[in-house]
Amino acid sequence: MIEIRNINKHYGSFQVFKGMSLDVEEHQVVCLIGPSGCGKSTLLRTMNGLEPIHSGEICINGDRITGPGVDVNKLRQSVGIVFQSYNLFPHMTVMENVMLAPMKVLGQSKGEAEETAHRLLKRIRLDHKATEYPDRLSGGQQQRVAIARALAMDPSILLLDEITSALDPELVAEVLNIVRELASDGMTMLLATHEMGFAREVASKVCFLCDGVVHEEGPPKQIFGAPIKERTQVFLKNIV
Ligand code: ATP
Ligand code: MG
Repeated sequence: MIEIRNINKHYGSFQVFKGMSLDVEEHQVVCLIGPSGCGKSTLLRTMNGLEPIHSGEICINGDRITGPGVDVNKLRQSVGIVFQSYNLFPHMTVMENVMLAPMKVLGQSKGEAEETAHRLLKRIRLDHKATEYPDRLSGGQQQRVAIARALAMDPSILLLDEITSALDPELVAEVLNIVRELASDGMTMLLATHEMGFAREVASKVCFLCDGVVHEEGPPKQIFGAPIKERTQVFLKNIV
């Protein structure tokens, strides 16, 4: 479903990807782990058309999404992204935040968009906050709305970049619960995370990024239980 083939990218003389390759199958939950600055966020942003690469290619659902002539708007309809800072539109209610893109980009009628928004707000258990403005919600609630906003486009892939990092510890669980539910519903997800316990539980595959490549990948049991490469071992030893 996602094929990342031998990609290279640099910022000035700093090379963030050095021939990185990675595959994600439909319904997989792939967790990206690795030291700060190893390129987790850059990789997710690349897959959403927010960052160009210098060589190699990325294909999503069979279409090449890197290089010239790519329809970024079409790409963003099928690949949703949620960031650490939830970035809800402050002057819009929860409902309006979720309805905006389906109406503007997909051309849904107000009625259709309302129906979708209500369904999604129920799913994230915030239907009762539909008419509130974001600043009246907790961080965890705002992040759940950001997830609903991404889901409103009915994406086939969801990219999640450290979505619990900005939250107080007691709010992390409610957001992870939503991700857990999406995973069991079969949503294909690629997530950058520092929550190793969660990665171990929810991931189909864990990828350790280091030095511009996927240094080691495998099922969570292997990566967390018996990593083969020394750098993976050192990384995990230092964070647990
Ligand atoms: P963290 O765990 O801290 O979120 P990360 O793995 O997400 O780190 P990235 O944010 O992808 O790392 O950054 C990868 C590298 O690319 C870093 O060294 C960063 O300094 C560099 N980088 C990212 N964006 C830019 C930019 N716009 N200009 C220059 N360098 C950048
Ligand atoms: Mg990051």
